[in-house]
Amino acid sequence: MNNYQNILLAIDFSDYGHYVAQRAKSLAEQFNARLHIIHVLDNIPMPDTPYGMVIPLNDDSSYDLLETEKNKLIQISNQLDILPERRWMIWGEPQQEITQLAAQEQIDLIVVGSHGRHGLAMLMGSTAKGVLYHAECDVLAIHLKDHQE
Ligand code: AMP
Repeated sequence: MNNYQNILLAIDFSDYGHYVAQRAKSLAEQFNARLHIIHVLDNIPMPDTPYGMVIPLNDDSSYDLLETEKNKLIQISNQLDILPERRWMIWGEPQQEITQLAAQEQIDLIVVGSHGRHGLAMLMGSTAKGVLYHAECDVLAIHLKDHQE
Protein backbone atom coordinates (compact mmCIF):
# COMPACT_ATOMS: atom_id res chain seq x y z
CA MET A 1 0.00 0.00 0.00
CA ASN A 2 1.21 3.51 -0.76
CA ASN A 3 1.66 5.90 2.11
CA TYR A 4 -1.12 8.37 2.75
CA GLN A 5 -0.20 11.76 1.30
CA ASN A 6 -3.16 13.95 2.20
CA ILE A 7 -4.98 13.43 5.48
CA LEU A 8 -8.15 15.35 6.33
CA LEU A 9 -9.05 15.91 9.98
CA ALA A 10 -12.76 16.61 10.54
CA ILE A 11 -13.13 18.59 13.72
CA ASP A 12 -16.33 19.48 15.56
CA PHE A 13 -14.84 21.30 18.61
CA SER A 14 -16.39 18.79 21.01
CA ASP A 15 -14.53 17.97 24.24
CA TYR A 16 -12.66 15.05 22.69
CA GLY A 17 -11.83 16.85 19.44
CA HIS A 18 -8.29 17.37 20.69
CA TYR A 19 -7.78 13.64 21.07
CA VAL A 20 -8.93 13.03 17.47
CA ALA A 21 -6.71 15.91 16.34
CA GLN A 22 -3.63 14.47 18.02
CA ARG A 23 -4.23 11.09 16.38
CA ALA A 24 -4.52 12.76 12.96
CA LYS A 25 -1.36 14.77 13.58
CA SER A 26 0.67 11.75 14.60
CA LEU A 27 -0.57 9.78 11.57
CA ALA A 28 0.43 12.65 9.28
CA GLU A 29 3.90 12.63 10.85
CA GLN A 30 4.24 8.86 10.50
CA PHE A 31 3.27 8.95 6.83
CA ASN A 32 4.98 12.27 6.13
CA ALA A 33 1.60 13.39 4.79
CA ARG A 34 0.06 16.83 4.40
CA LEU A 35 -2.53 17.48 7.10
CA HIS A 36 -5.74 19.34 6.20
CA ILE A 37 -8.52 20.35 8.57
CA ILE A 38 -12.23 21.00 8.08
CA HIS A 39 -14.92 22.32 10.36
CA VAL A 40 -18.40 22.34 8.89
CA LEU A 41 -20.52 25.15 10.26
CA ASP A 42 -23.87 23.65 11.08
CA ASN A 43 -24.57 25.03 14.53
CA ILE A 44 -25.08 28.76 14.05
CA PRO A 45 -27.62 30.57 11.88
CA MET A 46 -26.17 31.66 8.53
CA PRO A 47 -29.07 33.28 6.67
CA ASP A 48 -28.73 33.61 2.90
CA THR A 49 -25.68 31.37 2.83
CA PRO A 50 -25.90 28.46 0.39
CA TYR A 51 -24.65 25.04 1.50
CA GLY A 52 -21.09 24.45 0.39
CA MET A 53 -19.98 28.04 0.81
CA VAL A 54 -16.38 28.32 1.98
CA ILE A 55 -16.07 30.82 4.85
CA PRO A 56 -12.81 32.82 4.60
CA LEU A 57 -10.81 32.59 7.82
CA ASN A 58 -8.75 35.70 7.28
CA ASP A 59 -11.63 38.19 6.87
CA ASP A 60 -13.03 39.96 9.91
CA SER A 61 -16.77 39.62 10.19
CA SER A 62 -19.15 41.56 12.40
CA TYR A 63 -20.90 38.34 13.34
CA ASP A 64 -19.61 37.35 16.80
CA LEU A 65 -20.70 33.72 16.69
CA LEU A 66 -18.90 33.22 13.39
CA GLU A 67 -15.74 34.90 14.70
CA THR A 68 -15.76 32.54 17.68
CA GLU A 69 -15.95 29.48 15.42
CA LYS A 70 -13.23 30.84 13.14
CA ASN A 71 -10.94 31.51 16.09
CA LYS A 72 -11.38 27.97 17.35
CA LEU A 73 -10.39 26.60 13.96
CA ILE A 74 -7.41 28.94 13.66
CA GLN A 75 -6.21 28.08 17.15
CA ILE A 76 -6.34 24.32 16.67
CA SER A 77 -4.79 24.62 13.20
CA ASN A 78 -1.91 26.63 14.66
CA GLN A 79 -1.40 24.03 17.38
CA LEU A 80 -1.22 21.31 14.73
CA ASP A 81 1.00 23.36 12.36
CA ILE A 82 -1.56 23.12 9.54
CA LEU A 83 -0.82 25.57 6.74
CA PRO A 84 -3.44 28.31 6.14
CA GLU A 85 -4.28 26.98 2.67
CA ARG A 86 -5.20 23.62 4.20
CA ARG A 87 -7.72 25.04 6.68
CA TRP A 88 -11.38 24.84 5.69
CA MET A 89 -14.53 26.22 7.21
CA ILE A 90 -17.59 25.42 5.13
CA TRP A 91 -21.24 26.11 5.74
CA GLY A 92 -23.41 23.04 5.28
CA GLU A 93 -24.15 19.53 6.36
CA PRO A 94 -21.06 17.82 7.87
CA GLN A 95 -20.94 14.45 6.12
CA GLN A 96 -21.67 16.01 2.73
CA GLU A 97 -19.11 18.82 2.99
CA ILE A 98 -16.42 16.58 4.47
CA THR A 99 -16.69 14.01 1.69
CA GLN A 100 -16.99 16.64 -1.06
CA LEU A 101 -13.89 18.46 0.15
CA ALA A 102 -12.02 15.16 0.40
CA ALA A 103 -12.76 14.42 -3.26
CA GLN A 104 -11.86 17.96 -4.34
CA GLU A 105 -8.53 18.03 -2.47
CA GLN A 106 -7.51 14.45 -3.34
CA ILE A 107 -7.56 13.38 0.26
CA ASP A 108 -6.62 9.74 0.79
CA LEU A 109 -7.54 9.43 4.46
CA ILE A 110 -10.30 11.16 6.46
CA VAL A 111 -9.98 11.08 10.26
CA VAL A 112 -13.15 11.48 12.34
CA GLY A 113 -14.18 10.71 15.90
CA SER A 114 -16.51 7.77 16.34
CA HIS A 115 -18.92 10.14 17.98
CA GLY A 116 -18.85 13.78 18.87
CA ARG A 117 -22.12 15.07 20.09
CA HIS A 118 -25.11 13.69 21.85
CA GLY A 119 -28.85 14.21 21.59
CA LEU A 120 -30.46 14.66 18.23
CA ALA A 121 -27.27 14.17 16.23
CA MET A 122 -26.88 10.72 17.81
CA LEU A 123 -30.48 9.77 17.07
CA MET A 124 -30.08 10.73 13.44
CA GLY A 125 -26.92 8.69 12.99
CA SER A 126 -23.35 9.75 13.42
CA THR A 127 -21.32 11.81 11.04
CA ALA A 128 -18.67 9.09 11.13
CA LYS A 129 -21.11 6.59 9.63
CA GLY A 130 -22.21 9.06 6.95
CA VAL A 131 -18.63 9.91 6.02
CA LEU A 132 -17.71 6.24 5.80
CA TYR A 133 -20.69 5.58 3.55
CA HIS A 134 -20.09 8.49 1.15
CA ALA A 135 -16.30 8.86 1.07
CA GLU A 136 -14.29 7.70 -1.92
CA CYS A 137 -11.15 7.32 0.20
CA ASP A 138 -10.20 5.54 3.42
CA VAL A 139 -11.83 6.71 6.64
CA LEU A 140 -10.39 6.27 10.11
CA ALA A 141 -12.91 6.54 12.94
CA ILE A 142 -11.11 7.17 16.20
CA HIS A 143 -12.88 5.20 18.88
CA LEU A 144 -13.71 7.51 21.76
CA LYS A 145 -13.88 5.53 24.96
CA ASP A 146 -15.38 6.91 28.16
CA HIS A 147 -12.02 7.86 29.62
CA GLN A 148 -11.33 10.17 26.69
CA GLU A 149 -14.62 12.03 27.04
P1 AMP B 1 -21.02 13.03 15.53
O1 AMP B 1 -21.71 12.77 14.26
O2 AMP B 1 -21.48 14.30 16.14
O3 AMP B 1 -21.10 11.87 16.44
O4 AMP B 1 -19.45 13.31 15.20
C1 AMP B 1 -18.55 12.28 14.85
C2 AMP B 1 -17.29 12.91 14.29
O5 AMP B 1 -17.61 13.54 13.05
C3 AMP B 1 -16.64 14.00 15.13
O6 AMP B 1 -15.76 13.48 16.11
C4 AMP B 1 -15.89 14.78 14.07
O7 AMP B 1 -14.68 14.12 13.70
C5 AMP B 1 -16.85 14.71 12.87
N1 AMP B 1 -17.77 15.86 12.84
C6 AMP B 1 -19.00 15.98 13.39
N2 AMP B 1 -19.54 17.19 13.16
C7 AMP B 1 -18.62 17.87 12.45
C8 AMP B 1 -18.56 19.20 11.91
N3 AMP B 1 -19.57 20.05 12.06
N4 AMP B 1 -17.46 19.56 11.22
C9 AMP B 1 -16.44 18.69 11.06
N5 AMP B 1 -16.43 17.44 11.55
C10 AMP B 1 -17.50 17.02 12.24
